[in-house]
Parts: sequence; structure tokens; C-alpha cells
Amino acid sequence: MKEDVFAYIDDHKAQMMDLWQDLVNQDSPASYREGVDLVAKRVSKELEEAGGDARWDEEGKALIAEFPGDSRAPVLLLGHMDTVFPVGEAARRPFTVEGNRVTGPGALDMKGGVAVMLSALKALHSAGFSGRPLKVILVSDEEIAHNGSKATVMLQREARGCAACFNCETGYEDDSLVIGRKGGVVFKAAVHGIAAHAGNNPRQGRSAI
Ligand SMILES: [Zn+2]
Repeated sequence: MKEDVFAYIDDHKAQMMDLWQDLVNQDSPASYREGVDLVAKRVSKELEEAGGDARWDEEGKALIAEFPGDSRAPVLLLGHMDTVFPVGEAARRPFTVEGNRVTGPGALDMKGGVAVMLSALKALHSAGFSGRPLKVILVSDEEIAHNGSKATVMLQREARGCAACFNCETGYEDDSLVIGRKGGVVFKAAVHGIAAHAGNNPRQGRSAI
């Protein structure tokens, strides 16, 4: 089984590079829905080919795919399809391979991770993997902190009951496993104080800030 998976990965390196190239050469800043949709369409096709049942979740503006397995709790794989780069960036500096180095908008963050994830799923599928069910969630507005979707609500709902979760953002060059990620949150705070003039009666003022 393990050998079959590794053999598949070795035999399909060219296909993985092609997929990576296609993803990088399609601009997909979160604000450019058309581009994000094109990436989602391509990724969806790959997920189906890997044996997944893919659907679009409008609430979270995300692609969700489920892969059958045994009766245990599923393992969740996470990623995002958007990049921080504006429309036109892929034309300016397209996917380029120079030796062991690949460049292009989002090549690292995180279209490389998405290509690895999809290739791993296809390798498992071809090797007849039948362990835990797998679930994939790929959001489309990670780089803008999910501003404009309810991805945070969707993620909490969809992740419930999963045994473990692997975020497929690229790690470090030394191949170490990243075991924590920072996040962002937007919140409102109401602060109450006592108004006073800074010059006339400063001692009567109270500020909790
Ligand atoms: Zn990222």
C-alpha cells in the first residue's frame, strides 16, 4: 500500500507540476470571483478524479469534498484557493521552474500546498486506500480573513466530528512539521469610561483603555 502510494507519486510528478502550473497561472485574489471560480472548477475536477464527492458551499464560499472510508471519524484536510496577488500578476511573472526552485504568484502560498494535497489524494485513491474517510475544505477568501463570507461558521460546522485536521499550507524548507498556525480575528469592543477634559479636570476622568 505504502509502496503503491510512493510509486504513484514518483510516476505522476509531471502531472503534479502541470496542475501546480495551471493553478499558479490563474490569478485568484479573493476579490476576483471569476478567477477563484476557475481555480475551484479545476480543483473540483481533481477532487472528483481522486474519488471525492465535491460540492460548492455558498455560505463559506468554499469547495468541500468527502471521500468514503471506514466507519471511523474522518480526517480533515484544509487549504485555500485565493492568493494575495492582483489580477495580471500571473501574466507578469508566470509559473517558472529554475532548477529546484519554482516561482509565480501563490506558488508557495498556497497553490503548491493545494497541488500536493490533490496529488496525495489521487495517490491514495489509486492505491485503493480504505482507511478513515477523508474530508477536504478549500476556502476562497483566506487572505482577507474571510471578509465577505461566513467561512468561519462553515468551518466550525464542517469540522465537527473530525478526528484530526491537517492544514496543507506549505511548511519550511527543512521539511519539519508545522504544528501551529496563527490566525486572525475581527471583534468589536465596547469600552465605558467617564469623560473629562484633559486640561481642566483630568482627575475626574476615567478611561478603561
Ligand atoms: Zn496561505
